[in-house]
Amino acid sequence: MPDTDLMPIPGQIDPVPVARDITPRADGRIDLIGLPRKRIAELFAEAGLDARQAKLRAKQVFHWLYHRGVTDFEAMTDIAKTMRPWLAERFVIGRPDVVEAQHSTDGTRKWLLRTADGHDFEMVFIPDADRGTLCVSSQVGCTLNCRFCHTGTMRLVRNLTPGEIVGQVMLARDALGEWPKGRMDMPEEETAAEYTADGRLLTNIVMMGMGEPLYNFENVRDALQLVMDGDGLALSKRRITLSTSGVVPAMAKCGEEIGVNLAVSLHAVTKDIRDEIVPINKKYGIEELLQACADYPGASNARRITFEYVMLKDKNDSDDDARELVRLLKAYKLPAKVNLIPFNPWPGAPYECSTPERIKAFSNIVFEAGISAPVRTPRGRDIDAACGQLRTAAEKKSRAQRDREAAEAAADAEA
Ligand code: SAH
Ligand code: SF4
Repeated sequence: MPDTDLMPIPGQIDPVPVARDITPRADGRIDLIGLPRKRIAELFAEAGLDARQAKLRAKQVFHWLYHRGVTDFEAMTDIAKTMRPWLAERFVIGRPDVVEAQHSTDGTRKWLLRTADGHDFEMVFIPDADRGTLCVSSQVGCTLNCRFCHTGTMRLVRNLTPGEIVGQVMLARDALGEWPKGRMDMPEEETAAEYTADGRLLTNIVMMGMGEPLYNFENVRDALQLVMDGDGLALSKRRITLSTSGVVPAMAKCGEEIGVNLAVSLHAVTKDIRDEIVPINKKYGIEELLQACADYPGASNARRITFEYVMLKDKNDSDDDARELVRLLKAYKLPAKVNLIPFNPWPGAPYECSTPERIKAFSNIVFEAGISAPVRTPRGRDIDAACGQLRTAAEKKSRAQRDREAAEAAADAEA
């Protein structure tokens, strides 16, 4: 049973449970994406292969699916020619449908994706000089109503399945043309050269798209295990960050069972303000949350916890707020870094972004206390790339309007 069933938020809509294993398809075939090796072997055995064959074929198919990214059984060259149609009759290799793909003038790319049952969600790729980060969604919508977040205004439709979560990473690799052509063993110790992004390649994953990943714990865990598998997508856990608004009971489990870096959406340092802007605070307060951070398995000075702090004008951005933030992080002896995020406004949002001067002053106070506090540069503004914004924008705008805006943005960039 998904953890979400066990952790209802009073007064808010409970997540809709979703099939944990295999979503039935109209043609009776089974989509293999999202399934672990063992489950693939079981399905092959159920379809008639003997146990030894099923295990061997599952190992080969797993490698082709997740390591090489093939989408056609015919491309699996170490599988007998006669076996390939047998597979194609029974199984498919799926990807989320792309409804819309946008490319920002700053290189940021954004996709609006659709599940097989017609729900839209989004994914963003942000290239930097030394890395390329994919922002992945965990749910369609979100049950938590953080007041500054656009996703929070949408009703949760459902949790994404492991296949839909890992499928985002696979689709991004398709789009970036990045599947290994030959052998690509996972190095024991990664070197800079192996991961140098060159402003282009997908090197990092953040679970910061739509949804609260810890309210879809098992599916997120299963998907990330495929991403981290050395014979799968082979991305190191040090390159993956999961962001939570503070689902305290699932945090230790996240460290133990997934082991990725943790980011916490703190956003406020007093009960009143955090209750208002991040309502899950009424259930799990700041002290409880910071204690769970202090106990997070795997956190250290080498692997610090990121505290996200969205800068809202006259709400959470005073010098006193900055000083209280420092005090709290020190009181709990947290190996911390702070990410200051300029608020990205959306139509009807009840807040404004703090002024650049205020953000700078806030950052300086935190920085002078010895805690890194970079200000995030907004990316992909011309394509509404902040998470939670594309879907609603697409619902409201006509295609013509979007084309017009894209043309204007391109003209602005040239000017
Ligand atoms: N539900 C998780 C992960 C998804 S939200 C969480 O809340 O952490 C990812 C990040 O985007 C969060 O830190 C969130 O606070 C931030 N965010 C959401 N809406 C934003 C907006 N309009 N402007 C700036 N940051 C925003
Ligand atoms: Fe949900 Fe995160 Fe948005 Fe809050 S900030 S509503 S938890 S997606």
